[in-house]
Amino acid sequence: QYAESTHGFVGADLESLAREGAMNALRRIRPDLDLEEDEIDAEVLESLQVTERDFKEALKGIQPSAMREVFVEVPDVTWDDVGGLEDTKERLRETIQWPLDYPEVFEQMDMQAAKGVLMYGPPGTGKTLLAKAVANEAQSNFISIKGPELLNKYVGESEKGVREVFEKARSNAPTVIFFDEIDSIAGQRGRQQGDSGVGERVVSQLLTELDGLEELEDVVVIATTNRPDLIDQALLRPGRLDRHVHVPVPDEGARKKIFEVHTRDKPLADSVDLDWLAEETEGYVGADIEAVCREASMAASREFINSVDPEEMADTIGNVRISKEHFEHALEEVNPSVTPETREQYEEIEEQFDTAE
Ligand code: ADP
Repeated sequence: QYAESTHGFVGADLESLAREGAMNALRRIRPDLDLEEDEIDAEVLESLQVTERDFKEALKGIQPSAMREVFVEVPDVTWDDVGGLEDTKERLRETIQWPLDYPEVFEQMDMQAAKGVLMYGPPGTGKTLLAKAVANEAQSNFISIKGPELLNKYVGESEKGVREVFEKARSNAPTVIFFDEIDSIAGQRGRQQGDSGVGERVVSQLLTELDGLEELEDVVVIATTNRPDLIDQALLRPGRLDRHVHVPVPDEGARKKIFEVHTRDKPLADSVDLDWLAEETEGYVGADIEAVCREASMAASREFINSVDPEEMADTIGNVRISKEHFEHALEEVNPSVTPETREQYEEIEEQFDTAE
């Protein structure tokens, strides 16, 4: 029961909770007790029992520390780490980097800098990677918040959480605030299953914060979803998340570029042909391709470690290569995350969203 009501608590929070529960029990039997002054006699301690009520009282006063801390970082991802997606990169560069780099141009041209971007596309297609790259290239700080975490961790505190995130972003500007899986909190109001109104309150807070962002305040929100059709329309209106960027399932050319990114530091045998790999990987998204490359390296390592005398390892490791066979093995191990059916579903959703705009 306590485990259930302590979402987001770390060990130290639980320790405080236990201590505070015990203190409540003590106060209950000795309300007049002055801890600084009074000695507590052994008899009192022996009869001391911490009850459920004591814990419940304690729980009111303790917040999970995970939520009190909003982490700010400058990511180390660059545009070169993102394979393919040339159009998407260009859009992000213009939308986010330009207003930060060339505010005078925006002023002269009377152009509004974007406050918010919605990136939509299937999971694993590189949305997080792109957001980090744009933050890094624009030399911005980066605050990352996952939708479901916002709801679970900040138990009853989600709106305050949103407020704190924006405050932190302002005080560290320029900042990119990254809201991952925004549909989990900002699905159309009143349509969420089992919603206790939290989602609705969080969306209101988000709207308030977005509307309150001053022009060129150097705070920009990037939100992601794979269900753009479910996002509360109010969030997508002008001045809010009004720039919409599609991050598609990679085509053959893009897959080759993603393979290039993930094999650039690996020792490849001449038999490995990236064109062939790109051809063989219909339906694989960036995250799948990364997994294929990892799996192929693992296969090569396994073969090497099992066949070589540990004494000779250091001398021979330089000759080890990842071969076509290792990649063939990896392709058997890693399945594409987009099947023809799911692809059709995504395309339908995306088409609907595009035409509704
Ligand atoms: P999303 O946010 O769309 O779910 P991520 O950006 O988290 O996807 O991608 C997960 C991982 O997959 C990345 O860390 C990266 O290693 C790999 N990946 C995804 N897309 C690409 C891409 N276009 N180029 C290179 N790597 C990619």
